[in-house]
Amino acid sequence: MITETLAKNRGDLENKMRNLLAKPVFIIEMDAFALPCGCKGTTINTRGLQYDDLEIFEDHIKKYLGETSNNLGIEPSFLFARLIPGTAEVASLNSRVLCNRCYMDFAKGNGKRPRPDIYIFNLTRRE
Ligand SMILES: [Zn+2]
Repeated sequence: MITETLAKNRGDLENKMRNLLAKPVFIIEMDAFALPCGCKGTTINTRGLQYDDLEIFEDHIKKYLGETSNNLGIEPSFLFARLIPGTAEVASLNSRVLCNRCYMDFAKGNGKRPRPDIYIFNLTRRE
C-alpha cells in the first residue's frame, strides 16, 4: 500500500531530521503526486526547517531525501526544497521526476537558486 510506505517514510525521515538538526522539525505531510504534464514525485511538507539548515546540513539532507525518494520508488534525479520567499522558512522538501518540458525549464537555470522559492540539492543532467 502506498499509504503504508508513505507513513513509514514520513516517520523515519522526521526522526532522522530531528537527530541531525537537534531541534523539533515536523514533517506534517508526505504526499505522492502526478501532474498533468507528466511530472511525478513526492512533496514532504515541513515545519521548523529553515533556509540556514539547508546550507549547513545540505549533504545530510540531500542524502536523507534521496533515500526517502528511493524508498518510495521515485528516482532521485531532481531533489529540491521549496522556500517561502521573504522568510527564513522552508515549506517543503521535494523529489520530482521531471517531464521533458519541465526538465527544459529547470535545466535552463543556473546554480542552487534558479528561482527565489527553489533551493536545488540535485538536478541530474540529461544527455
Ligand atoms: Zn512537468
